[in-house]
Amino acid sequence: MADVTIIGAGVVGLWTAWALLAQGLTPRLIDREGAPGPHGCSWWAGGMLAPDCEGALAEPLVVAHGRSAASAWARVTDVTERGTLVLAPERDRVELDAFADRTLGHEPVDGPEIMRLEPGLEGRHRRGLFFRDEAHIAPRRALADLVARLADKGVEIERAQARPEDMAGPVIDCRGLAARDALDTLRGVRGEMIVLRSTEIVLRRPIRLLHPRHPLYVVPRPGGTFMLGATQIESTDRSGVTARAALELLSSAYALDPRFAEAEIVEMGADLRPAFPDNVPRIVRRGRVLHVNGLFRHGYLMAPALARQAAAYLADGHKGDLFHED
Ligand SMILES: Cc1cc2nc3c(=O)[nH]c(=O)nc-3n(C[C@H](O)[C@H](O)[C@H](O)COP(=O)(O)OP(=O)(O)OC[C@H]3O[C@@H](n4cnc5c(N)ncnc54)[C@H](O)[C@@H]3O)c2cc1C
Repeated sequence: MADVTIIGAGVVGLWTAWALLAQGLTPRLIDREGAPGPHGCSWWAGGMLAPDCEGALAEPLVVAHGRSAASAWARVTDVTERGTLVLAPERDRVELDAFADRTLGHEPVDGPEIMRLEPGLEGRHRRGLFFRDEAHIAPRRALADLVARLADKGVEIERAQARPEDMAGPVIDCRGLAARDALDTLRGVRGEMIVLRSTEIVLRRPIRLLHPRHPLYVVPRPGGTFMLGATQIESTDRSGVTARAALELLSSAYALDPRFAEAEIVEMGADLRPAFPDNVPRIVRRGRVLHVNGLFRHGYLMAPALARQAAAYLADGHKGDLFHED
């Protein structure tokens, strides 16, 4: 007999189920599509756990909680802890200075140091910032690992469409953008990504290439593949990647390493990130229902902390700093 029903098995629904188990509570986990896949926003993520880089634009709450994400993920999946390298083309070096001013946890790196960190870039870049304490994961593998861990504990994903108000007992609504029917300030922020395969290029860690209009990140993935991301557009359009986005992402990848021109395009995808007006994820309580939502570009970074706080609230009534009174 379940103590709590979770609707939505994206990254935050899965983490919430895991956190409830840690509190000694039994979750029932429901998703209208079953296991994670292309239907959910979580499928399209880069898997960067980069709180300090994100601090260039994100609120301090996101940076603070994000710093514990890598250790949380390491309990359920493989985490690569090699930091993030931030670069800018010579003509955009002012972008690098501005990024350094807006962030913490970095050290300047010159050409030889960049060469030592990323020999695969073959000395093309002369100035950068190294965020030593950041990490990344392979997001689809991480979701599968979390699903397997839950199954080991007897929690399977039930495939069903559900509405929070129809369920008995406490409910945690993790429906992502589909919860707009209950959360009127929730909006979608479109993100587009491309996966390339190259046998020529070897990167050891996520690289961010700064640009005033088309910033890019490249995340190395297993099998010689690289995820290029991501656009950030206020939009309600969930359709496929636009030609403009593809041109921008591919040109930025070419600026990082011209050998990307010869890479195979493996996949392109787009989805809408669920976000509140301040882009800070939150827990909102409405009667029996806890809404855990608004993960914006920080689903993997913030899901462990949000889940922990939602589960602690159900276990002993404690409200953490991610609770939002409305
Ligand atoms: C291109 C891109 C790159 C990104 N990169 C990163 C990154 O590097 N790092 C990071 O931390 N974040 C990143 N993000 C953000 C991250 O992907 C999102 O914040 C996160 O996936 C949101 O997760 P969620 O669980 O709230 O929503 P979802 O993953 O969308 O899950 C919601 C689930 O609810 C289910 N559902 C909906 N309605 C119902 C219903 N009525 N009944 C049953 N089930 C229902 C859906 O089927 C779905 O499975 C990126 C996003 C994009 C688009």
